[in-house]
Amino acid sequence: MSVAVGYAPGVGAQQVGGDRWRDVDAARGPSELLDEEARAADRELDGAPAGVILEWALERFGGGLVVTSSFQDCVLVDLAVAARPDIRVVFLDTGFHFPETIAYLRRIERRYGLDLQIVESGLAPDEHPCGTPRCCELRKVEPLARVLEDYEAWVTGLKRVDTPERLEAPVVAYDPVKGVVKVNPIASWTEDDVEDYVVARDLPRHPLNSLGYFSIGCAPTTRPVEQGENPRDARWSGTDKSECGLHL
Ligand code: SF4
Repeated sequence: MSVAVGYAPGVGAQQVGGDRWRDVDAARGPSELLDEEARAADRELDGAPAGVILEWALERFGGGLVVTSSFQDCVLVDLAVAARPDIRVVFLDTGFHFPETIAYLRRIERRYGLDLQIVESGLAPDEHPCGTPRCCELRKVEPLARVLEDYEAWVTGLKRVDTPERLEAPVVAYDPVKGVVKVNPIASWTEDDVEDYVVARDLPRHPLNSLGYFSIGCAPTTRPVEQGENPRDARWSGTDKSECGLHL
């Protein structure tokens, strides 16, 4: 699939990466140009296979691309490594993950020889513990923001079926708050698509799947999925919270 969005509209053949801010259209700032480029890419790529979306992102951003994974499964990692074996993968370690998640992460790291960066908040467990107002912000949102300062684009495993708030999630979008282009290659996937991919690729499963956990984040706010539930219903159950803030 050919996607002619590597160059910003309005600036001829001047690439909006690397020398991004040189000779740009004087009437518009760099973020506006990236926003236009991301919108064009989204129009072209929505509905394309995840691998094609990743190939576009790699061609466009090269080493300026980073993948984040919560390691509830390894689908996104498998797709990303297939596109580029040495792609950088980041895990945000809040200090409250299940030991099984850390063990699974290490297993996946070994399996793929991952270029894995584990990012910690630096907080002690009793500083802003789970459930306090700033915990997600200090243990996830701010550490991610620091990571993204070094990158131009961020690949996530976000899916539209996750929550009502994600129903309209684009495949490619410029995030003006984080200052990066956000790429969601499996945005259109359903839970069945994920399962089919895991089976087809014979991927290792998170050890807690066998106990009914499928959407897996921090241990204090994750429970097993009950019959008929959306997996995300098992996160922050009993609260009015459904997002930790990474995707807001
Ligand atoms: S889910 Fe709980 S422990 Fe994890 S970052 Fe958010 S508030 Fe903190």
